[in-house]
Amino acid sequence: CGIVGIVGNKAVSGRLVEALKRLEYRGYDSAGVATIHDGKLDRRRAEGKLVNLETVLSEAPLAGTIGIAHTRWATHGAPTEANAHPHIVDGVAVVHNGIIENFAEIKQALAAEGAVFTTQTDTEVVAQLLAHYRKAGLGRREAMHAMLKRVTGAYALAVIFADDPSTIMAARSGPPLAVGYGDGEMYLGSDAIALGSFTNRIAYLQDGDWAVIGRTSIYVFDHEGNPVERPPQTVTASA
Ligand code: GLU
Repeated sequence: CGIVGIVGNKAVSGRLVEALKRLEYRGYDSAGVATIHDGKLDRRRAEGKLVNLETVLSEAPLAGTIGIAHTRWATHGAPTEANAHPHIVDGVAVVHNGIIENFAEIKQALAAEGAVFTTQTDTEVVAQLLAHYRKAGLGRREAMHAMLKRVTGAYALAVIFADDPSTIMAARSGPPLAVGYGDGEMYLGSDAIALGSFTNRIAYLQDGDWAVIGRTSIYVFDHEGNPVERPPQTVTASA
């Protein structure tokens, strides 16, 4: 299972899938990618190996210079296309590795207010919560922070909002997640290997960190929302 993201200055979908291949060693049962193009989120997903996702993408290419991608190892919900990430709810797309422990309680609360769930995953509550907080009037960062205060468990997360085609938000509590510094592009990945073809200037997020990743800047905050410094190191990735 793995996560990749690019806030780019050229097409991303092919490069995202190539980076996912570098994470194949971790195992997975399905995969998907989402981008923003012309102010809208779009996604492609497939059960099974990445070659299946590549077939889908060759039949229906995905434009866009910003995107997030995922290989899933199902913990909640069968390994179907419908349960494959990214999950999209009202202009928010989410990929997640790990387990949201309190998903049942959150799902019940949101469903009672009228939210319609379309997957069997624990992850969908993250997308539903973000959409819920946006509808309640919170800005993107405020919604992200409020969501992170609401969920418990283990997660590496990447989020894109249709109304901001120049930012990926990410968060870590448990599974590793690294940001990568490029030249007019920035990257996100489960580890340095995933980012190896993009950059060797990498900073691992620490537990409780969340990041706002733009094309030319990365801001990192702690769980309380205070800015923290995670300076990039130059790494030598082998694989
Ligand atoms: N718990 C999530 C799911 O089953 C994420 C699994 C993973 O880490 O890939 O969809």
